[in-house]
Amino acid sequence: MKLKRLIGLSLVALLLGACGASDQEDAADDAPAPAADEISVSDAELAGNPFMEEWDTPYGVPPFSDIENAHYMPAIKKGILDLRAEIDAIVTNPEAPTFENTIVALELAGELLGDVASTFGNITGTDTDDELRALESEIYPMLTREFDAITLNPDLWARVKAVYEQRDSLDLDEQDARLLELRHRSFVRAGAAFTPEVKDQIAEINAEMSALTTKFSQNLLLETKAFTLELTADDEIAGLSDDFKAAIWDEEKEAWVVGLNRSSYETFMVQSENRELREKLFNGYRLRATTGERDNGPLAIKIAQLRAKRAELMGYDSHADYILEYNMAKTPKGAEDFLLRVWRPGLERAKEERADMQAMIGDEFTFAAHDWWHYAEKVRKARFDLDENETKPYFKLENVRAGAFEMANRLFDITFEEVDVEGWNPVVVSFDVKDENGEHLGLFMTDMYARDSKRGGAWMNSYRSASNINGDNIRPLITNNLNLPMPPKGEPTLMRFSDVETLFHEFGHGLHGLMTKIDYPTFSGVDGPRDYTEFPAQILEHWTSQPEMLELYARHYETGEVIPSDLVERMLAAGNHNQGFATTEYVAASLLDLRWHMLSSEEAAQITDARAFEKEVLEGYGLIPEIEPRYRSNYFAHIFSSSTGYSSGYYAYLWSEILDADGFDAFKQAENIFDPATAARLKKWVYEAGGLRPADELYRNFRGSDPSIEPLLEGRGFAVEEAGGN
Ligand SMILES: [Zn+2]
Repeated sequence: MKLKRLIGLSLVALLLGACGASDQEDAADDAPAPAADEISVSDAELAGNPFMEEWDTPYGVPPFSDIENAHYMPAIKKGILDLRAEIDAIVTNPEAPTFENTIVALELAGELLGDVASTFGNITGTDTDDELRALESEIYPMLTREFDAITLNPDLWARVKAVYEQRDSLDLDEQDARLLELRHRSFVRAGAAFTPEVKDQIAEINAEMSALTTKFSQNLLLETKAFTLELTADDEIAGLSDDFKAAIWDEEKEAWVVGLNRSSYETFMVQSENRELREKLFNGYRLRATTGERDNGPLAIKIAQLRAKRAELMGYDSHADYILEYNMAKTPKGAEDFLLRVWRPGLERAKEERADMQAMIGDEFTFAAHDWWHYAEKVRKARFDLDENETKPYFKLENVRAGAFEMANRLFDITFEEVDVEGWNPVVVSFDVKDENGEHLGLFMTDMYARDSKRGGAWMNSYRSASNINGDNIRPLITNNLNLPMPPKGEPTLMRFSDVETLFHEFGHGLHGLMTKIDYPTFSGVDGPRDYTEFPAQILEHWTSQPEMLELYARHYETGEVIPSDLVERMLAAGNHNQGFATTEYVAASLLDLRWHMLSSEEAAQITDARAFEKEVLEGYGLIPEIEPRYRSNYFAHIFSSSTGYSSGYYAYLWSEILDADGFDAFKQAENIFDPATAARLKKWVYEAGGLRPADELYRNFRGSDPSIEPLLEGRGFAVEEAGGN
C-alpha cells in the first residue's frame, strides 16, 4: 500500500517541544539556536537518499534498512529549504489572505522536513550511536531557529491575523475554527504581536536564558558524573542483590561503583545495609551543584528572574500565569490549591510511615532521611510478604498484550492483527488496527526490549500522525516503547506488575494517536495541555487489576491458571505501601516549581540564596526533615535545564491522576468496567477528539461533570477531606 508521506509543520514543531507522550524522567533540552547561516545542499549530496524517494513499503513505513546516518543531514537541509520556499509562497501570495491559502497552506508546509525529523527523532531514541548523538546537537538548533523565524515572521503574522479577524464571517466548521484559533494562539504566545522593541527585549531574554539553562544542565551533568561510591569491602556491599552488583561492577576499577542516576541511587538506598554509606550517597545526591564553580543556585535565581521579567513584558503577572493560561489548572493558585489538597493527607500518612519505621528500628538510633528507602522496604516485606517471582509467571508479555487488545476491543470495538512489516529493529512487532467497520485506523509498532543503543523509560511516539486534508485520509504510524530485559533464548518474557501497568499506559497514548478523527495534525492524536495529555494513558492502568481483566490475561504461562485472588490482593496492597512518602516528595517538588515561577520580577530580584528560598517555601508548607523534595532547585532539570521544560508544570502528572481516577470511577458507578455507554463517550470525547476543544470541556463531555478529587485520594489510600474546599 502506498501512502502519501505527510507529517507537516505541526509535527515537526511537536518534536521540538517536550514530547507529548514521553514518560522519560529527564526533561528534553531545547538546544540554543546559533546565529543563522546559509543552508545549501547540492543534488549530488541528495543522490540515492531514501528521503527523496517515494516509499513503496507496507503502510508507508520508512524504509529502515535503506536509511543510513549520512542521509539525515542532507535531507534535513533540503527539508528546510523546501519549507522556506513554502512559507515564502504563502507570504508573497498576491491574493488576499484566506483560511485556505494561509492557515491550511501552513498546515501542509514542511512535509519532507517532517518525514526526516520524525524518523530521526524516533531512531535516535531507539537505536542511537555516537554519530547520531553528534548530529542531534547540530540538527535541533537548526530546527529551532527555523521555527523561530516562522513564528516571528511579521508578514506571515499579518496574514494569520487578517484571517483570524474575519473568523466570524468565514463560515468555518468546528475543526477549521479550532485550527485557526490554535494557529493564531501559537503566534501570539511566541510574541509575534508585540512591538519591535518588546520583541527585541524578549529575544534578548531568550538568548540570555538559553545560555543559563545550558550552563545549568552542563553543571548538573558534570556534578552527577563527579560523584561515585567505590565499594570493595564485604561490609560495603552488604545487602546488595546479585543482579544489582553485576550491573554496577566496574572491570577497570575492580570495584562496585554506584553513581547518582536515579535508578541505581534508589536501588542502593533500598538494599544497602550499610547506614554510613547510605548517608554518604544521600548527601552526594542532594548536594550536587550546590557549591563552588558548578553551583546551580545563582543560575536558578537568574533564570527565575528572567522568566518573571519576560512574563511581565508579555502582560502576565508571572511566568506561571503565562504557562498555565491554557492548562486545566488555569492559574497558579488553581494548581497550588489542588496540590495542597493532596499534600495534607500525604504528609499525615508520611508521618505515620516514619513512626512505623522508627518502631521497627527501636531505640538503636533515630530514624533519618537516608534511612527511608531501606526501612520502607523492610516494613513492606514484613507486612505483605510478597516476592516478585511469585507474580511474574502470570504476566507473560504476549498474554498481557493480548489482554490490552481485548480491552480495547470490548471498550471501543477496534481490532488488532499482527502483520509482517520490517521495523527499525528486528524485535519490533507490528499490528494493523481496524475500526468497528473493518476500516484501517493505523499501524501500531511495538518495541518492548532494552538495549544499549536505546534510551531508558517507556514512551509512545509516531512516525506519521493522522491527517485528512483535502480528503487524502492519511492514517498514523504509532509506536510504543518499553525497556523490558531480553530473556535468555527460548525463555518467555515474564513481566513485573509495574511493567504491565506501563504497557497499558503507553497503549493508552497509542490509542489516543490511533483512534483520532481529527483532520489537522496540529491537534490530532495526543494533543492537549500538559495536565491533560497523561489522562488517556493513565486511565487504562485501572483495568490491569480488575478481576474481569485478570481473568482474560493474567494466566500462568505454563499451566494457564488464572492468578489467585489472594496473590492479587497482596500485590495491590504492597503497591500502595509508602504512598505517604511518594506523594510528599513529589508534591514538595511540584510546589517548589510553582513558587519559583509565581514570583514577580521584583520579588525574584530580592532572592540571593536559592537554598534559603527553597527552605523557606518548603518549611512554610510543613515538610518534615526526613523527606527531601524529589528534586531540589540545584538539580531540578525538569524546570531549569531548558527554556520552558516543565516549568510551572511539574504538578501535571498528579493533575492527570485526578482525571484518570475520577474517569475510571464512571465505569465503577456503572458497575461494569466495559460499560458501553461510558466507553462510547470516552471514545468520542477523548480518544477520537485530540485537541478539538479545551481539555476541561472534553472531559466534561465524557464524564457529564467536572472531575472530583476524591477518587484520587481514595486510590492512594488517603482519607478524604470534608467537602467545603474547592
Ligand atoms: Zn504517559
